[in-house]
Amino acid sequence: MVDLAAIVADIGAEMAAAPERGVPAQYIPPLACVDPARFGMAVIEADGTCHLAGDADMPFSIQSISKVFALTMALGREGDRIWSRVGREPSGSAFNSIVQLETEHGIPRNPFINAGAIVVSDILLARHEPRELIGEMLRFIRTLAGDEDIFIDEAVARAEQQTGFRNFALANYMKAFGNLQNDPARALGVYFHQCSLALSCRQLAMAGRFLMRGGVNPETGFNIVSAERARRINALMLTCGHYDGSGEFAFRVGLPGKSGVGGGILAIAPGKASVAVWSPGLDAKGNSQLGKLALERLAARAGWSIFDAPVAEGAR
Ligand code: GLU
Repeated sequence: MVDLAAIVADIGAEMAAAPERGVPAQYIPPLACVDPARFGMAVIEADGTCHLAGDADMPFSIQSISKVFALTMALGREGDRIWSRVGREPSGSAFNSIVQLETEHGIPRNPFINAGAIVVSDILLARHEPRELIGEMLRFIRTLAGDEDIFIDEAVARAEQQTGFRNFALANYMKAFGNLQNDPARALGVYFHQCSLALSCRQLAMAGRFLMRGGVNPETGFNIVSAERARRINALMLTCGHYDGSGEFAFRVGLPGKSGVGGGILAIAPGKASVAVWSPGLDAKGNSQLGKLALERLAARAGWSIFDAPVAEGAR
């Protein structure tokens, strides 16, 4: 019998003592000064049982993890039409890379790299004003988490607006290829605000519950997306959720996961748990150093890797 409470408590203690913590993202000034000693973890099981460790109730900038929720909204609104404008293949490149856009005619590899997420913002913007859409995204994530305290950190959004030269380059480049319908600044305004959503590990794990439950929101029993779409979002998280570190994450952790440069990771054990970890120090690929380690230990100790063979009765 797996004692999840003990596993989470042990991992929290191990991470508090870990010497190698990585370096917080430097290119977004408010993220650069977050204390690398922070570590938080929240595990919410399918029956709603919640296990917390460390700074699990401290809000942090979810950054690229927001791309999971934006994709969910876009699939709900536009359905499979979005796939003519963004692909579903791992990029093998850095999160902010521009190189593939040249040879691939402005169609980003997947919705979880920056270029792909900017296209998703553009798709969501159709017939809306940026302010309305940002408000809708905030309401969506508050509903998923069942928590009205979730907010957008305007200081982070402003900093991204002032320093996001690469993102401006990506958006302008895609506009030149005809893959942005809105003015690049409008699509980017939405993108920077969604990246600036601030959630704690507990709130983030709550917001991810529909992905462990075949698309169903446990609060209402209604589907957020169909079971098929939830499965496919999980598949994209597994193959593309950690940029050019996605293969390594699948190898070490074996769960669908999405990281952000704020140091958070949302990971899903389908049918079993929604998990959020946060530690601001990043590895060379922009993924949380301790977040990955904590998830590797959790998946191994709980037997949750999606590649674990179920143990046959009688063979126990
Ligand atoms: N807002 C960040 C950027 O556009 C997101 C990157 C990330 O979390 O990977 O650079």
